Amino acid sequence: MLQQAETHEEILNKLRKIVGNEWVSDFPEELLLYSYDMTEHPPSNPDFIVMPKSVEEIIEVVKLANEYKIPIVPFVTGNNIGGLTIPLKGGIVLDLKRMDRILHLNEDDMYIIIEPGVTFGHLKKFLKDTNFRYNYPNAPPFASVMANALLSGLNNLSLRYGCMSEVINGIEVVLPTGELVKIGTCMCWDKHWWGRGPQPDLLGLFINWQGMTGIVTKMALQVWPKKPFRDWKFILSNDLAKTYEIVRKLARSDIMNDILLMSVETIKMVLGIPYGQAVHLEGEPHWATTLDFSANTKKEYEAKWEFIKDTFKELKEVDPKAVLSSVQGAAKMYGQKFAEFTNLPFTIGSMLEYGGCTWVGTYMTTNIDTIVKGVKIAFDIIEKHGFEKCLYTRMMKGGHYFAFRFLLRFSKEEEEEVERMRKLNKELFENLYELGAFPYKTPAWAAEEIIKRCDPNWVNLMHKIKKTLDPNGIFNPGRWGVE
Ligand SMILES: Cc1cc2nc3c(=O)[nH]c(=O)nc-3n(C[C@H](O)[C@H](O)[C@H](O)COP(=O)(O)OP(=O)(O)OC[C@H]3O[C@@H](n4cnc5c(N)ncnc54)[C@H](O)[C@@H]3O)c2cc1C
Repeated sequence: MLQQAETHEEILNKLRKIVGNEWVSDFPEELLLYSYDMTEHPPSNPDFIVMPKSVEEIIEVVKLANEYKIPIVPFVTGNNIGGLTIPLKGGIVLDLKRMDRILHLNEDDMYIIIEPGVTFGHLKKFLKDTNFRYNYPNAPPFASVMANALLSGLNNLSLRYGCMSEVINGIEVVLPTGELVKIGTCMCWDKHWWGRGPQPDLLGLFINWQGMTGIVTKMALQVWPKKPFRDWKFILSNDLAKTYEIVRKLARSDIMNDILLMSVETIKMVLGIPYGQAVHLEGEPHWATTLDFSANTKKEYEAKWEFIKDTFKELKEVDPKAVLSSVQGAAKMYGQKFAEFTNLPFTIGSMLEYGGCTWVGTYMTTNIDTIVKGVKIAFDIIEKHGFEKCLYTRMMKGGHYFAFRFLLRFSKEEEEEVERMRKLNKELFENLYELGAFPYKTPAWAAEEIIKRCDPNWVNLMHKIKKTLDPNGIFNPGRWGVE
C-alpha cells in the first residue's frame, strides 16, 4: 500500500465522489487482475482501479492524484505484450473501457474520431456498412484502437501507410497537471480533424510515451476507401535471403497492401498446434509469406497478379521447391483457420492459452544481409533457451523500414520457465540492438538498457520534457528510466 490507511480511505471516498461508487475498486481480487499481464514482467499491485466515463471525470481524478502525489496508469485492456500497464509504483489504474464511443466518421477527409475504449471489434462493426476500411493488427478484437496507435502498432496496411502513429490526425489530451489540450487542426476548429500540419507538430510529446505525458481522450485516425477487388496469396520457401529479396521488391513496387514473412513455426502456432510442438519438421519448407493486395478494377487486379507471379519466378529460380498458392488453396491443406488471416481482427487463441506470451518486437533496417543475420542469431538464442522459433516480420511503409519480431509462448506456471524467458528476451535485445533493431512497445527494462547506450542529450531532453509536463511525476512512473 502506498498510503497510510486513513489517507487510503480518504482518496477512495474522493474517487467515489468523482466517478460513482461502483466505478472505483480497491478489492484485493480486482487489484490482482490489474497487477500482471501475459508477459514475463514481474507483477505489481495498484492501490485503486478507477473507471471514468467522461473527460471531466478524468480531469478531476488527475487533480486528485496531484494533490496526493499518487501515480496514474492509463489502461484499456492490457494486451500490449510489453508489461506496459503494470503499475510499477502502484497508485491508480485508470481503466478507460467505458469511454468507447466512435464520435464521427468524416467521409470527405477520411478519418474517424474515437474515444480510448473503442476496440478493433467495435470499429470493424462500425465500418462494415461504410465505404471505408481500417488497418488491423493480429491483436484480439477486444484490444484498444487508440492504444495501438499511441504505441506505433504495426497493422495490416502498414506496408502502405507505416506504423499506426503515422496515421493519427490529431488528439485531445489531459495533461498530468489537468489541462485539456488539442493537438492538430482540431486546435483551431472543433469540426476539422484532418491533419497535424503545418503548425508545429506536438503529437510526438504523447506518442510511445506509454501514458507518461498525457491521457488521450479523443483521437482522429485515418481510414481508407475499400477496394472492390482484394486477394491474398501465399508462398512457401526455403531460401531466406532470396525470399526477403522478392518481399522487398514487392514492397517497393507500391502495389501491395501487406506482406508478412513468418517462419513455418508461426503458421503452426496460429493454426492451434499446442505449446512446445510448433516446431519445424525435416523436409518441410521453412518460410511462409502472405501477400495481400487490392485493386479498383479487374484489369488492375490482373496486372498486379501478373507482377507478383513474375517476381515469384525469380525466387523459384534460386529456390526450386518454392510454391505460390492462393490463401484458399493453402486453407484446403491447413484447414479453414488459416484463411482467418484474411479477416482481421481475430484472436490467436493458441498464442494466449498457455498463460504466457511475449516478444521482442523491433523496428529496423530493410537491409537483407542484416535481416538474415538477425534471424540466424535470434533462432540460435531461442533454440538455446528451448522455445519455439515463431518469427513474424513485415516490410513497413513501402519498404522504408522493417518490423522484426518473435511471438513467444511460454507457461507461467513454472518460475524457472519465466526466468528463462526473461534471459532469452534480454539476450535477444542485446544482440538485435547491436544490429540496429529498436524495441517498440518498449518494456521498462529494455528502455533502461537503451538509455545506457543512446545519445545522452536525448535522455536529458526527455527528462526535461517529462519534468515540465508532469512536475509531480505521477503519470506512469518507472518507464523510460524516469521515476
Ligand atoms: C495475441 C496478440 C497479438 C497482437 N498482435 C499485434 C500486431 O499484430 N500488431 C500490433 O501493433 N500490436 C499487436 N498486439 C498488441 C496490441 O494490438 C496493442 O498493443 C493494443 O492494441 C493496445 O491496446 P490495449 O487495449 O492492449 O492497450 P493497453 O495495454 O491497455 O495500453 C497500452 C499502452 O498505452 C497506454 N494508454 C492506454 N490508453 C491510453 C490513453 N488513452 N492515453 C495515453 N496512454 C494510454 C497504456 O498506459 C500503455 O502504456 C497484439 C496483442 C496480442 C495479445
